[in-house]
Amino acid sequence: MRSLPPSPRRAAALLIAPLALGLAAPPALAAPAPAPVPAPAPSAPPQECSDEPRDLPTWKFIDYDEMRRELARIERASHGKVDVRVAGKSTRGRSIYTATVGTGKKVFLVNSEIHGNEKTGTSSLLRILAWLGTSGSPEAKRLRREITFVAVPKINPDGAELDRRGNDHSWDEVQREFPQLAGRPPAWNYLNGTQQGDDYTRRPGFDLNRDFNVDLNYKPKPEDVPGQSSSFGWFLNAESQTLRDIYKRLRARHGKVDVYVDLHHQGACVREDAQNRLLDVAVDYPPLPDVFFQPGGKYAPYAKTYPKDFSKQLAISAFRGIEGDGYIAARYPHAPTRDLPGQARSSFGLNGTGTVLFEVRGQTQSMGHHQSERFINAVTGGLMNMLNDLATGKVRGIDPDSFEQLPGTAEDAAARALRELEER
Ligand SMILES: [Zn+2]
Repeated sequence: MRSLPPSPRRAAALLIAPLALGLAAPPALAAPAPAPVPAPAPSAPPQECSDEPRDLPTWKFIDYDEMRRELARIERASHGKVDVRVAGKSTRGRSIYTATVGTGKKVFLVNSEIHGNEKTGTSSLLRILAWLGTSGSPEAKRLRREITFVAVPKINPDGAELDRRGNDHSWDEVQREFPQLAGRPPAWNYLNGTQQGDDYTRRPGFDLNRDFNVDLNYKPKPEDVPGQSSSFGWFLNAESQTLRDIYKRLRARHGKVDVYVDLHHQGACVREDAQNRLLDVAVDYPPLPDVFFQPGGKYAPYAKTYPKDFSKQLAISAFRGIEGDGYIAARYPHAPTRDLPGQARSSFGLNGTGTVLFEVRGQTQSMGHHQSERFINAVTGGLMNMLNDLATGKVRGIDPDSFEQLPGTAEDAAARALRELEER
């Protein structure tokens, strides 16, 4: 496997290490007399949160090789209950894995790290797989009987190893892979400047969660590029193609994919609007405005297949699971005009799957792994409650319209600006 150079943020962090070692060197080796120690600056008031990109530790998160070892261990320990397979390859040739457990009729697909700097989902999925694959408890047995659970940890392994949002794929490469796009300007979700403190100029990539099309057999057309946030994506990237193929294979084998969950992170300063506390996880149903499902609207062909109410029922179940375990949940901002059909959850939603977005507070450049254990537990609580409510059928009894009564997100200006930048 090729090893990648550190990202600029990481590189800056590495430079600090020799300086720290220098301070610890024996006096004989320290050349000049030590400078007088400056008086400490008056301490600034502690900052509760910031979206300013910084060099922060991430070692508590699971990297790609650790994930592979853990998947292999879980598969061995499960004695045949967990099936780990290579579903495809990333742009840079890393294997993308599915781990499947359970034999039930209800298919539950979930992925993590489609944005590589949003990492708690991977740890949560590995913990659920380990428990579901080895537990003899009545709860685990029921879940395995009722549900086919398919986890795709690190769907964007190249971005995850670079610890950045986008994957590692240039527009030149895309044009070689799709010659019909020669001479076209890059897709609108192409990252080739600086974003979230990461320098994409020499190693560009794509925001993969804008690359999905409702037509799962879509082939890129020159007139559809560069596109915009309110139009479908094109499956230009190996990672989105792989997730699409996993979805298609599950549909062919099981008739449908009942549930899809996409695990993300968001701004570091977001609060719930009931008690104004910093939240742990916000949840959401797909950003597809109702008005476009009316006759003549662009989503009218999918009016009968799109299960909006089921998505809201699932999101409420997730909310209750997060809150039930003592963490702070909220609705993610969802304006009626929010229209992002190129997201995986929108594409799969229009294809008939109930979909939920998880948005954990903070990303690696704003929080490092600070509070990671808390957030991993909160994500796990939300997913486990969804699995239980799906297995028992309880989810269908939830009033979907009660979603709007749950606490929403009260964002500060910085978090809102960050979200709007990401949603362009
Ligand atoms: Zn994300």
